[in-house]
Amino acid sequence: MLRIDVLTIFPGLFETFVQESILGIAHEKGCVEIAIHDLRNWATDRHRTVDDTPYGGGPGMVMKPEPLVAAIEALAGAQAAPRECSEDLRDSCDSHKLHDSEGRFEEREGPKSQRHAKVILLSPQGKKFDQAHAECLSREAHLVLVCGRYEGVDQRAIDLAVDEEISIGDYVLCGGEIPAMAVIEAVARLIPGVLGNAESLETESFRSGPSRLLLLEGPQYTRPAEFRGLVVPEVLRSGDHGAIRRWREEEARRRTKERRPDLGSSDSGSSEAGHGKNEKSTRRKNEVFTINE
Ligand code: SAM
Repeated sequence: MLRIDVLTIFPGLFETFVQESILGIAHEKGCVEIAIHDLRNWATDRHRTVDDTPYGGGPGMVMKPEPLVAAIEALAGAQAAPRECSEDLRDSCDSHKLHDSEGRFEEREGPKSQRHAKVILLSPQGKKFDQAHAECLSREAHLVLVCGRYEGVDQRAIDLAVDEEISIGDYVLCGGEIPAMAVIEAVARLIPGVLGNAESLETESFRSGPSRLLLLEGPQYTRPAEFRGLVVPEVLRSGDHGAIRRWREEEARRRTKERRPDLGSSDSGSSEAGHGKNEKSTRRKNEVFTINE
């Protein structure tokens, strides 16, 4: 069972998301438990303020550290325990963060950490999220996802309470809610028992192919066999499972080479992804289907 706590100032955005489709099923099966928390519950003033103007001036607002760190510590436990250490005990306490002489945080891991979850801040400045990262997170027992808003989060809250930052791509959204949903779905579907057919995980895009290269999945078809003059490749209707498997492998390699040479081939000479729009996987009726390697 993976537990995911989400911290947001817009809890309503998650209402249907966590109940419908794959997450609803994951919850019913007891594979994933998701709880959405309103950050304003940790604000201490009567206006439930969670943001303030930036030091040094500039546009917009910044998320205040106090409610964020209090909320994260309530959900995940304290990462380190500087406040438990008196000045005299600091040198003997091996689990806290101290300011170094230049005012930067210096992290000290140790047995006194009360952290029992991995805390992730969604941030355009984080590590770019991918399938391998989703697989790692699916093996965690407890995640806390923090959704930023405004111009971002006070750096001290990040230094004190966040374990890692994740970006879903090189573009800026208004908040971390959609990135959090992307992470939740990518992770939850990898947990054993969530998907009805676990085989689909083995064949889909970004799996490791032969030589451990990542591959995109090839084209997919369903009935009817012919649609507006486009026919399903003969081999898929042949009933020859060996031939179908080989065809799919070839198509996966061909598509990866064409659209994402950076993933599938070390000799591609380019790290730019192709858009793949010129590729024609479905052939006109009577056209001979061949694999273009
Ligand atoms: N001022 C910030 C900067 O320039 O890096 C951008 C802040 S953005 C408007 C507000 C929040 O949206 C961020 O704190 C983050 O939580 C979320 N966010 C925006 N784009 C994101 C992305 N590509 N990946 C993950 N989170 C993102």
